[in-house]
Amino acid sequence: MVRILGGGPGANPLARPKYPCAVSSEVPSLAELHARGAAQQPTYPDASAVDAAVARLRSFPPLVFAGECDELTDQLAAVSRGEAFLLQGGDCAETFEGVTADNIRNKLRVLLQMAVVLTYAASVPVVKLGRFAGQYAKPRSSDLETRDGVTLPAYRGDAVNGFEFTEASRIPDPQRLVDVYNASSATLNLVRAFTTGGYADLRQVHAWNTDFVLGSAVGSRYEALANEIDRALTFMKAIGADPDEFHRVQMHSSHEALVLEYEHAMTRIDSRTQNPYDVSGHFVWIGERTRQLDGAHVELLSRIKNPIGVKLGPTSTADDAIALAGRLNPDNTAGRLTFITRMGAAKVRDLLPPLVEKVEAAGVQVAWVTDPMHGNTYEASSGYKTRRFDDVIAEVQGFFDVHRALGTWPGGIHVELTGDDVTECVGGGEELSEADLAGRYESVCDPRLNRVQSLELAFLVAEMLRK
Ligand code: PEP
Ligand code: MN
Repeated sequence: MVRILGGGPGANPLARPKYPCAVSSEVPSLAELHARGAAQQPTYPDASAVDAAVARLRSFPPLVFAGECDELTDQLAAVSRGEAFLLQGGDCAETFEGVTADNIRNKLRVLLQMAVVLTYAASVPVVKLGRFAGQYAKPRSSDLETRDGVTLPAYRGDAVNGFEFTEASRIPDPQRLVDVYNASSATLNLVRAFTTGGYADLRQVHAWNTDFVLGSAVGSRYEALANEIDRALTFMKAIGADPDEFHRVQMHSSHEALVLEYEHAMTRIDSRTQNPYDVSGHFVWIGERTRQLDGAHVELLSRIKNPIGVKLGPTSTADDAIALAGRLNPDNTAGRLTFITRMGAAKVRDLLPPLVEKVEAAGVQVAWVTDPMHGNTYEASSGYKTRRFDDVIAEVQGFFDVHRALGTWPGGIHVELTGDDVTECVGGGEELSEADLAGRYESVCDPRLNRVQSLELAFLVAEMLRK
């Protein structure tokens, strides 16, 4: 039985939110965006509560600064020129419950460890981009979820409704957008403290990698590379080099720009340049399900000045990609646009070459990044959504091979990972099996690489970068 949920007490489902305050004449209003028929939006039962949440968000200070976004654009321009490599990673879906010091620290630590390995192998700077501090809203393939004969609205991320499978929890609540802001603010605050306050010290990070290599059977395969990094660091120490970069790192934040109310309310005019920026994160991307050329997401992101990404799945044509670039980056500014391809291991070698070739031939300035996760999801016999580590590696290898053959730069990886020892993806050196998934499956959405699988991925990508 499908039950249509009503609003809370006093809710009038016929009233439309009024959305007080526009950002500026350069940015379409929320009502105008919704008039485009925005995909993947929550249906809020109470319009006045939406207005209240949006007004509250508009009054909050920015989470990131426009100047920081511009710096990231410059770094991504280097990626598009083949002079840097992007590491973007974090949860599929952050949760409010997951905003703990341990969780954030573990995620940051594994990203820093990966970045050191990749930097050494790539011999170019690694741009570090967390998939965190805002990654709370999820597009879903179905609006409804059925369990044991009960059908309720699908979980759309903590930004929208609760994961718990009850009628009350699945009602979209706009107050959650305010909670997203607060959770993102706490996360970013800790990340900024960790990355500048000594935790990211290169020698410390390298010591963690040494622990992984020497302390585990999985890691021992990568001993030679870790030893090389060790010698490079010892040499630097011997000559007395101790640059600032050894002690702090730059880490930016990113998330999928999905719920229009949140992204619009966080869009502000930069006082230096009078340009609009979405100050909810440094980098925002448009997902595979919301990249319609005339859709609300493309329209909103075409107006902001942040560096942005677009996911391109197996149905994307080169013409789609070129048209998106025209809409989103009409000035063809390097670093502004990143295409995150997610074709699947079985298809990447067939689908990526014509896409890259035609987009490049059109003169489009873009950073090419692989998401080796979303084209490789399947349901295990036990019912868990999972991914095979070997498929993830195979897609990254396909991505590298295709770009190498075309003479273009495989610019980076976008992965779903955690710093914890969860059991969500199968395979890897620890040989997690489908039967192991039940042990510690904690993701509320897609399966993530665990700590060991993430480090292995970094060492394997390092080998690809050096070839
Ligand atoms: C995601 O990144 O979690 C996601 C939903 O990806 P895509 O838009 O590529 O399906
Ligand atoms: Mn996902």
